[in-house]
Amino acid sequence: MSVVAREALDRLVLDVPDYPEPGIVFKDITPLLADHDAFTAVVGALAAAGQDSSGATVVDKVVGMEARGFILAAPVALALGAGFVPVRKAGKLPRVTHAVSYALEYGEATLELHRDAIAPGERVLLVDDVLATGGTVVATRQLVESCGGEAVGVAVLMELGFLSGREAIGDLPLTALMTV
Ligand code: AMP
Repeated sequence: MSVVAREALDRLVLDVPDYPEPGIVFKDITPLLADHDAFTAVVGALAAAGQDSSGATVVDKVVGMEARGFILAAPVALALGAGFVPVRKAGKLPRVTHAVSYALEYGEATLELHRDAIAPGERVLLVDDVLATGGTVVATRQLVESCGGEAVGVAVLMELGFLSGREAIGDLPLTALMTV
């Protein structure tokens, strides 16, 4: 990862205590997104997860999870010459979907993917801002596999190490630009 990307993550991701509820420290990436050099650098670092050692693209699709995953995955897809696919919360996609429900700390969430968004055999990179418990990534991988695609890796800006998301995602290779 470049010095610019490292410095951007240190300086431009802000901790917001007790948001959206007491006890949560929210990682606010909006200052990073507003800085062209910083955004460019982290998109390049995330895109490397979809390339081999010679720099060739090894994925067909880049999936971004609602909502901040969209912002990062779309430019990563363009950088890789791959397609972008959104994974959305329940009820937001207009055509026939696959759906996966998973447990949150309190309650349950459902994510959906258009059934024709990924063709059987396509190789897919997952992109999001933060890996916390890993529930979002595990559900997204299931959606990709429901289409017959293969999730080949996940790339995030930040891994919250104390929540053990890395263990939850099992054998899916993880690229985390930063661990906190
Ligand atoms: P999880 O499914 O627990 O790994 O949570 C990951 C999802 O929740 C990602 O889409 C993140 O955007 C969001 N998320 C979880 N914890 C945080 C946090 N502390 N700050 C910002 N976003 C978070």
